[in-house]
Amino acid sequence: MSEEKLSFQAEVAKLLDIVVNSLYSNKEIFLRELISNASDSCDRLRYMSITNKKIIKDSNNDFQIIISTNKEKKQLIISDNGLGMNRDDLVKNLGTIAKSGTNEFMNSLTGDNTKDVSLIGQFGVGFYSAFMVSKKVEVITKKAGEKNGWHWVSDGKGNYRIKENQTASRGAKLILHLRKESEEYLEPIRLKTVVKTYSDHISIPVVLEPDSENKSDKPEIINKASALWMRAKNEISEDEYIEFYRHSSGGYDEPWHTLHFRAEGSIEYTSLLYIPTNRPFDLFDPERKNKIKLYVNRVFIADDLDGLLPPYLRFVRGVIDSPDLPLNISREMLQDNPQLKKIQKGLVSKILKELLDKNKKDESFDKFWSTFGAVLKEGLYEDFERREKILEICKFNTSKNDKLRSLKQYVEDMKDEQSSIFYITGDDSEILRKAPQIEAYHDKEIEVLLLTDPVDEFWISSSGSFQDHPFKSAIDSADEIDKIKSKKNIKKKDSNVNEEKIDKLVLTLKKALKDNVKDVKTTDRLRESAVCLVSETGGISIHMERMMRQNGQSQNINSPRILEINPNHSLIEKLSSQTESTIEETAYLLLDQARIIEGDPIPDRTAFAQRLAENIEKSLI
Ligand code: ADP
Repeated sequence: MSEEKLSFQAEVAKLLDIVVNSLYSNKEIFLRELISNASDSCDRLRYMSITNKKIIKDSNNDFQIIISTNKEKKQLIISDNGLGMNRDDLVKNLGTIAKSGTNEFMNSLTGDNTKDVSLIGQFGVGFYSAFMVSKKVEVITKKAGEKNGWHWVSDGKGNYRIKENQTASRGAKLILHLRKESEEYLEPIRLKTVVKTYSDHISIPVVLEPDSENKSDKPEIINKASALWMRAKNEISEDEYIEFYRHSSGGYDEPWHTLHFRAEGSIEYTSLLYIPTNRPFDLFDPERKNKIKLYVNRVFIADDLDGLLPPYLRFVRGVIDSPDLPLNISREMLQDNPQLKKIQKGLVSKILKELLDKNKKDESFDKFWSTFGAVLKEGLYEDFERREKILEICKFNTSKNDKLRSLKQYVEDMKDEQSSIFYITGDDSEILRKAPQIEAYHDKEIEVLLLTDPVDEFWISSSGSFQDHPFKSAIDSADEIDKIKSKKNIKKKDSNVNEEKIDKLVLTLKKALKDNVKDVKTTDRLRESAVCLVSETGGISIHMERMMRQNGQSQNINSPRILEINPNHSLIEKLSSQTESTIEETAYLLLDQARIIEGDPIPDRTAFAQRLAENIEKSLI
């Protein structure tokens, strides 16, 4: 077959452009990326060989990664005897980016190099990092069990070429033609340091071969080559933990928390888990897969096995290794394996306990909460068994102050007559804090949870209670707070309210607003505001409706709201003495004002502007 010339997928070309042209501060990480790929490839072949013995010839079952140099030709060569790639794999793996969430990620790139480099840090450049130090990269590879080998070559500028190759042996050999400024990677000392720094924990041996010019030295294993998670905690340095996190999770940040433990009992397993500091770019992928690597006796099995951790803990990264799981069964059967379920149970308990401890003791918990709280809260409606435990970990913005508060703190500070936990939902906690609907709560110093994560709408309606205190919408709970006395001495202007006039006002407003509102009512929940909008008691909240519309789930949902008016407000008082036609003219202004406060769109902005202009004009006379 003759040589084929192919183009990189647009996203790869864009990524390569940034990788090559930006001043990536630590270029040396390319070696970690390539060694990591080589090690994954060996891991995958080792797993396949359990069920397909023939795939590995006896003579070649010692997995290793070899680094060699050719100083004369300025080449750095990294080879492995792992799974390798065939033509289609090369096109798919090295010509496109198969990661989920790539599109969203690419759209988030700004075109500003410095910003994009740090974004790419979260995404991971993997194989393409080779182009940071190379002007040309060749891959000579043969897939295990196949006859033909392949040669891939590219200068990273939009195209690559592929042709058959008869010399390839199983695995992949990467020949990097180093750029002038990267020739330091021909030096054994430099290579050893980089491998020690980033790849010491890789369980496959990394062998450094002497340069072709140098005949006297011998090949040397330059990493520890033992599975890090099986080593004793006190033998592992902080840096080793961090590097292993980066290798196993693809993250570029440092872990916020590391959890390394061995479980013994009815089932034995070792786990080395990490909670990242930053949000992985694919956290909100619809698939919600966990990214834990599962090993059985150090043989890699899978890195996205359903059932190992529930989706609401998908931000946890790391490895689990258990000698008690069967090796020779399919993934599907493994997912349903009772032993695996026991491991899951143990892991979830341990992680939740750890988070609760951190919540109590660690100041950085709030940062964790802002990053991953929304994901953990999915557990409130997906894992009923542990709902109370998860609620204990949760933190909330509340109307009390601008600190995050736990439910335990909320309950401790509840008023004597108060039995419910009140909440209000919306998009922004600062706006909610000032929402007219909770003005009376501020007066009575009753704390209200300000729920702003989309997930809140889902759990809050099903979560029942915390420590026997039911969750109640602040908007639907006027009766209950009536019973709670206010500490402040509020001047009630009730005596001035002319009920008859107000009743007439309500009727005229209703007539004028027709189908645009479900009802018009007076309320005593308001203090400073004249009007507000609410949904029907027990009905779907205004915020939920808005979310559903934004997600395109239901265009039709736009149910009319109830317009509530504050009879004690001077505007309402004055309005109630006006003629019917003045009230009718003002009705839409009041409704639109309530819509603005609520964050709802104004259906007819031109009419609104005209009415406003007319009213301003009148007031100027
Ligand atoms: P990632 O490793 O995050 O998937 P990379 O860009 O590093 O992304 O690699 C893309 C894919 O190319 C890998 O998922 C793997 O399938 C393949 N690949 C890379 N290096 C090797 C290798 N040495 N041997 C076999 N396959 C490889």
